[in-house]
Amino acid sequence: RAKSAGGNRFELADPEADARAITRHGLTTALPTALDRGEFFIEYQPLVHLGDGSVRGAEALVRWLHPQHGVLSPDRFIPLAEHTGLIVPLGRWVLEQSVRQAREWRERHGGAESLGPLRINVNLSPCQLTHPGLVQDTVDILERTGVAPDALCLEVTESALIGADDDLLKPLRRLAEMGVDIALDDFGTGYSNLANLRRLPVSVLKLDRSFTQSMQQFPADPVDLKIVEGIVSLAHSLDLAVTVEGVETGAQAEQLRILGCDTAQGWYYARPGPPERLHELALVDATG
Ligand code: C2E
Ligand code: MG
Ligand code: MG
Ligand code: MG
Repeated sequence: RAKSAGGNRFELADPEADARAITRHGLTTALPTALDRGEFFIEYQPLVHLGDGSVRGAEALVRWLHPQHGVLSPDRFIPLAEHTGLIVPLGRWVLEQSVRQAREWRERHGGAESLGPLRINVNLSPCQLTHPGLVQDTVDILERTGVAPDALCLEVTESALIGADDDLLKPLRRLAEMGVDIALDDFGTGYSNLANLRRLPVSVLKLDRSFTQSMQQFPADPVDLKIVEGIVSLAHSLDLAVTVEGVETGAQAEQLRILGCDTAQGWYYARPGPPERLHELALVDATG
């Protein structure tokens, strides 16, 4: 992007990288007080049953409304929050807000007979897993809000559990025994150790978006089809439900339904949005 050389100009080696570093530094400085200033908010993306198209719940996805930079996606600040330790109080806040939201949906849905109870999925960072307060915080939040544990699903990435020892799995086991679902997020991206699945207290596999993307063409790549088919059949034989991420077209949804996936999430159904939106989608779905 540099113009012709000459003159006494100095050049930055990579102006964009530099701008990113400056922003990162600024964000890291602003992060610790952002929670107190109420700058975080949560969007909800529906989880849809592939068999009948009904809305079964939603995933909570946090955003940061930064006073200068506008809405920032979690990829921009979750790593910083993990680095600074803010992830623990932030994660707790997301959990409490989301569970409260789930209770509100459930209450408002009381009249709609055909609706099953909406469930809520919340992402957990590896730092939260190793934090000693996780189980107690979760128990407290569920008790305070009066939401049943089986309305909650905690999403942990597969990579966070790679090589996990029993100490790391203990809190997840406790939560699973209480009835909280544990989902293995972004499944299939890491070094998936299928045999390892048996010892993890998970009840849901969230198949990574890359698999969904490979269903874009019709007919899809036969090898990809076989892989997904294999994962689904293994998951079902271990009593795990399969959710697919990143469904953007009806063709993908149909293909994944035929392959036996249970639940789907993606722009084809709805982008992440405000909580009222989920309520509307679920109601439309129940009445028409
Ligand atoms: P994730 O848990 O795998 O969430 C799914 C991501 O895919 C979300 O990105 C969602 O907006 C995006 N997505 C959904 N449908 C589609 C689609 O059809 N096409 C495409 N291209 N993308 C789709 P988002 O909201 O930017 O979140 C990114 C990641 O940030 C999440 O990935 C999760 O790992 C993390 N995250 C979000 N909220 C939290 C949180 O409260 N706590 C923690 N620890 N991590 C969070
Ligand atoms: Mg997730
Ligand atoms: Mg995911
Ligand atoms: Mg993902």
